[in-house]
Amino acid sequence: MAEPVFRRLALIGVGLIGSSIARRARAGGDLAGEIIACAQSAATRARVRELGLADRIEEDPAAAVAGADGVMLCTPVGTYGAIAAAMAPALTPGAIVSDVGSTKQSVLRDVAPHLPAGVRFVPGHPLAGTEHSGPDAGFASLFEGRWTILTPPAECDPAAVARVSEFWRRCGAMVETMEAGHHDRVLAIVSHLPHLIAFTICGTADDLADESRSQVLKFAASGFRDFTRIAASDPVMWRDVFLNNREALLEMLARFMEDAQAMARAVRWADGAYIEDKVKRGRKIRQSLIDLNQA
Ligand code: NAP
Repeated sequence: MAEPVFRRLALIGVGLIGSSIARRARAGGDLAGEIIACAQSAATRARVRELGLADRIEEDPAAAVAGADGVMLCTPVGTYGAIAAAMAPALTPGAIVSDVGSTKQSVLRDVAPHLPAGVRFVPGHPLAGTEHSGPDAGFASLFEGRWTILTPPAECDPAAVARVSEFWRRCGAMVETMEAGHHDRVLAIVSHLPHLIAFTICGTADDLADESRSQVLKFAASGFRDFTRIAASDPVMWRDVFLNNREALLEMLARFMEDAQAMARAVRWADGAYIEDKVKRGRKIRQSLIDLNQA
């Protein structure tokens, strides 16, 4: 079997993503020789122990990263700055610090300044997930056939980038590298805006008078149901994503609102051709996703 990518991997946060990494690492032996997990609540630490997801479980991020050659941050992005400050003094020179956070410019801003010289930082984002959270939600095959985007800063050691790429490839992911600002704009349209719309539409439906609201739930299969799946996601994670990708999200939202206004105008003036054209474009995008095996 291939040598593990990391001799000792510290996983900071063991929810959906962290526990999926732990499960995959447990299953293969090719990712990590040893797994040290860190979670803030006693309940999560107890559950991680019961599930056998780690060799050691710590409350303190500094205790978790001591002696690790790989560190993966898997907590909501709003926690990164405080965690980086707490773990920094215990990091081993030469260690690679990476993460799975959904926003990337904020991660460079919040984590990089705390890291001591000699520690290499390779931010990453696996484009894989579900609406569930916590250590029970993860599964070893979560990353298979999905993209992981790495956003290393320009001065990053290429050997560290290669090692993190290899880590994700062994998880079954396809890996691409891009600049953090570009990542944030792309993700604003493919993920953050759709979530914003889903949370909003569920709120709109919930504000309806009692009678209409019960009808919404009864006849949800007509389209509303698909929004509710997205809207079931973790509130803390999504609060942090929105607040840490403000600019790109607001830019995409402004463009969306212009387009929604244009659609409203077409409906008002019975412009059937416009409506049909938009629906056709939607179908084409859906077909392209199916062709790319990402549906
Ligand atoms: P999750 O299931 O809610 O798990 C979050 C984990 O972080 C829990 O173990 C939690 O511990 C821990 N945590 C929270 N605050 C902490 C702190 N201050 N110190 C130490 N541990 C802390 O979240 P997730 O879905 O795995 O998301 C984790 C990261 O992955 C986020 O940055 C998110 O943006 C990114 N991501 C998520 C998805 C997705 O679809 N969910 C996809 C790609 C990337 P407790 O249980 O003890 O609170």
